[in-house]
Amino acid sequence: MLIAHKIELRPTPEQADYLNRACGTRRHGYNQLLAHFSQPGVKWSKAAAYQHYMTVLRVEFPWYSEVSSRVARNAIDDLDAAFKGFFRRVKAKAKQPGFPKFKQKDVNDCFALREPSRFSVEGQELRIEKLKTRIKLRQPLRFTGTTKQATISKKAGRFFVSVLIETDDYNPHAPEQASVGVDFGIKTLAVLSTGEEIPANQTLKKNLKLLKRRQRNLSRKVKRSRRRAKAKLKVAKLHARIGNQRQAVLHELSDTLTRTYNVIAIEDLNVSGMTKNRRLARAVSDAGFGELRRQIAYKAAWRGVTVIIADRFFPSSKMCHVCGQLHDMPLSQRLMICDCGNVIDRDLNAALNLNQYGRDALKRDLKRTQESDKTGSQDPALALMA
Ligand SMILES: [Zn+2]
Repeated sequence: MLIAHKIELRPTPEQADYLNRACGTRRHGYNQLLAHFSQPGVKWSKAAAYQHYMTVLRVEFPWYSEVSSRVARNAIDDLDAAFKGFFRRVKAKAKQPGFPKFKQKDVNDCFALREPSRFSVEGQELRIEKLKTRIKLRQPLRFTGTTKQATISKKAGRFFVSVLIETDDYNPHAPEQASVGVDFGIKTLAVLSTGEEIPANQTLKKNLKLLKRRQRNLSRKVKRSRRRAKAKLKVAKLHARIGNQRQAVLHELSDTLTRTYNVIAIEDLNVSGMTKNRRLARAVSDAGFGELRRQIAYKAAWRGVTVIIADRFFPSSKMCHVCGQLHDMPLSQRLMICDCGNVIDRDLNAALNLNQYGRDALKRDLKRTQESDKTGSQDPALALMA
């Protein structure tokens, strides 16, 4: 199975210089080739492009060889893919066939090393051809296996590497616990039916506050002034950082859940998003429930974990998990106080209900599977993943 893991790089200034030059070489090579093959009568082919690169570009721009030779060669592959797409769309008589476009500086800057010999990841370090020192990674690779390809990209002044790995290591720990209900909280990121609370990320919280302040600051600046441009860049950078932090938070949560439990029951996140709205822990609400659900679903599939999504009308936070009585539970009410004597935190109560829901759903499904076994079996996990 192929898995891509994207990690932020921590390059020294010299290393960042190399990365910038590599991005530049790829962009320059791509644009030079595109310009050449856009001329009337010059037909694109990969072989012709390679010929042009070897006999003209490499001679005319000797600085190409300061970075890995693969960088410019990959530009040929990428342009080839762009041309092929264009030809296909022309053939299909698409309204906008989309002739390949020139690459702009600072827009999706990247380069790829598609040959395992040109790079390697060792521990928390990345080695790249023609770069003498190793670049520090922010975290080690999450998977073990054969590294196939590394794509280095730049966004808002920061560098990332996306490593493609061929791995069997997608089930590193067999889940130990049977089942869990998860309520995505308002105060905390999530509350589990085990009673465990997963707190909201403090750095993220702080940065969100800072972002608000910077956006206010930006709105006060005079239009088209230099100060405004500066403030705008600051906001953009912080935006990017927050986006990454959020992704990291969601990955951690979906990792923990799918590594620990066999069955995970969650609420229908799109619906809970509408009702709980903005008051949910911002890490979940802003990154979108869709993203969290997507992560939990695909990681569950790797690890053989069953995900059960509660029916949208299931009153997880309104029902007492002991006696089943329904209560009006406005968002401000943190405790559920039931006539049966049950007094419990609202999120924990919801998590317990979801856990029960999951178990019941599995039981129902097991029965159905046993019945259908006589005619032809179906994987219960698949039935519930919908
Ligand atoms: Zn009760």
